[in-house]
Amino acid sequence: MALRVLVGVKRVIDYAVKIRVRPDKMGVVTEGVKHSMNPFDEIAMEEAVRLKEKKLASEVIAVSVGPQQSQETIRTALAMGADRGIHVEIPAGKDYEALGPLQVSKIMAKLAESEKADLILLGKQAIDGDYNQTGQMTAAHLDWPQGTFASEVNVEDKTLVVTEIDGGLETIKITLPAVVTADLRLNEPRYATLPNIMKAKKKKIAKMTAADLQVDIASNLETLKVEDPPVREAGQKVESVEELVGKLKESGCL
Ligand code: AMP
Repeated sequence: MALRVLVGVKRVIDYAVKIRVRPDKMGVVTEGVKHSMNPFDEIAMEEAVRLKEKKLASEVIAVSVGPQQSQETIRTALAMGADRGIHVEIPAGKDYEALGPLQVSKIMAKLAESEKADLILLGKQAIDGDYNQTGQMTAAHLDWPQGTFASEVNVEDKTLVVTEIDGGLETIKITLPAVVTADLRLNEPRYATLPNIMKAKKKKIAKMTAADLQVDIASNLETLKVEDPPVREAGQKVESVEELVGKLKESGCL
């Protein structure tokens, strides 16, 4: 059985960028800041492409929900090997800032139905909001089984065998259709090569809105304040163990 695989690829601030809080303390600075595909989504995409290479998947569809620039993230997915893309556009601004796992999972569930997907592969977490909820909520909307934090995925006829990590290993068998979320150890994602980047330009990206999918993206979550973590106080250097013990005694730590 060759699977139709939907992969969620979110555009997030690049992991190497130092995040700055906006002066109005209502979010973080995004203008002029490098964005990339969420690292866990690169892993989910790599897994989908490997399934295709093993002829276990018939089609890999990259989905991104977000502003216009999310198309760049989809292009990267296409260059990694996705067959086509779906961009659900949520213009930058109020709606996008309020977009969270509940809204994205509703969109993913609708697309899974319209695309007749057998497998939804997502990252275990997006590194911007750190929610770790979208996969679980998507499975709930669809009433599909889920394998979260996957470190190994094997397709066996109409089932998936998923090994999960959370301190230890748990290997589970789930029936398809299913939702799987990727952990760091699942694979090492490939870089898109220049010929594949060129080829990706010819692949199709369908554009739609949440309204087209009849998904209500209203949020009942309100951000009150965004703050930097407290600044760590400078440490002190000591010359010897005796001095260290003395200082600890002085400060009441010993
Ligand atoms: P989260 O629950 O926000 O930590 O996200 C978990 C996973 O859901 C991500 O790694 C993505 O695979 C997927 N996801 C979340 N938001 C989006 C989005 N806006 N567009 C595409 N995929 C998303």
